[in-house]
Amino acid sequence: LAIPNFAGFCDDLNKIFLETKKQNPGNLANYIPELGTVDPEYFGMSLCTVDGQAFSAGDSRIDFTLQSTMLPIVYCLACEQVGYDRVHEFIGKEPSGSTYNAFVLNSENKPHNPMINTGGIICCSILEPQDNQSNRFGNLFDFVSSMAGDSKITFHQRTYLSEKEHGDRNAALAYYMRGAEVKGLDGKRLPEVLDFYFQACSIACNTEDLSVIAATLAKGGICPLTNKRVLQTSTVRNCLSLLYSCGMYDYSGQWAFTIGLPAKSGVSGNIMVIIPNVMGLALYSPKVDKRGNSVRGIEFCKRLISQFSLSIFDNL
Ligand code: GLU
Repeated sequence: LAIPNFAGFCDDLNKIFLETKKQNPGNLANYIPELGTVDPEYFGMSLCTVDGQAFSAGDSRIDFTLQSTMLPIVYCLACEQVGYDRVHEFIGKEPSGSTYNAFVLNSENKPHNPMINTGGIICCSILEPQDNQSNRFGNLFDFVSSMAGDSKITFHQRTYLSEKEHGDRNAALAYYMRGAEVKGLDGKRLPEVLDFYFQACSIACNTEDLSVIAATLAKGGICPLTNKRVLQTSTVRNCLSLLYSCGMYDYSGQWAFTIGLPAKSGVSGNIMVIIPNVMGLALYSPKVDKRGNSVRGIEFCKRLISQFSLSIFDNL
């Protein structure tokens, strides 16, 4: 078993969950107005082990849009479609040290990494450029669903429209990159690429599904619920390396230091955490800090790590 005494472990996690729930600082990310309309009290947590054991607490069946937690998924798909080397001809592997939506490129005129908006927009440009929009979206949607154990993930039309209507910043980032002649961005299709990026960000699921997605990564690309291989192990390895250094916005270095696990967060207040060869963990609490990370999500992980030796460096 990935976790011996699973029942005892879940009891402890439930206690950590209830402790964390008591406080709820932070703010809703209302720069996308629709994200400002959700109940700020939502708090859900789910885990799924690599051998398929599952546990949830709180609002684990409430759907939220994945936002930039989609970016590692889009990155994996891009790597499988065109190859890892090709993707990194266009995108770096370094944390940017800046906010996720900053107007900054690295010294090679590339986005710093695929986990921030600029890099995400480039990945969206790489995916199936010859195909039509409905197939491209459909393939991404089906892929997320297969990572989540063929579960019924959804698409949140209101958030998509809200983000699109207030998408000036991301549009500006895309035009900035086109102006800077960033390679990999298909300039002729820029509005379509941007639209696809908005669509990707509005794919939605609950923490139960997200913990299965994280567990599929923890299992090297095999979904623990269906036992189907959905990604090559090498793709997952590369993705997890980047999540370790770049997954938590400009908190990534501190996160790696204190938590020591690959993770990704999105401004809707979700975080997925990957404990390689053990389990995937998902958290949702919509109030985020100034960097865009779920406050309770981070607090939960800090408490978890102080109690259990789960950091990748804990077994030295
Ligand atoms: N759709 C959001 C944006 O582009 C994603 C931000 C995030 O979750 O980091 O602003």
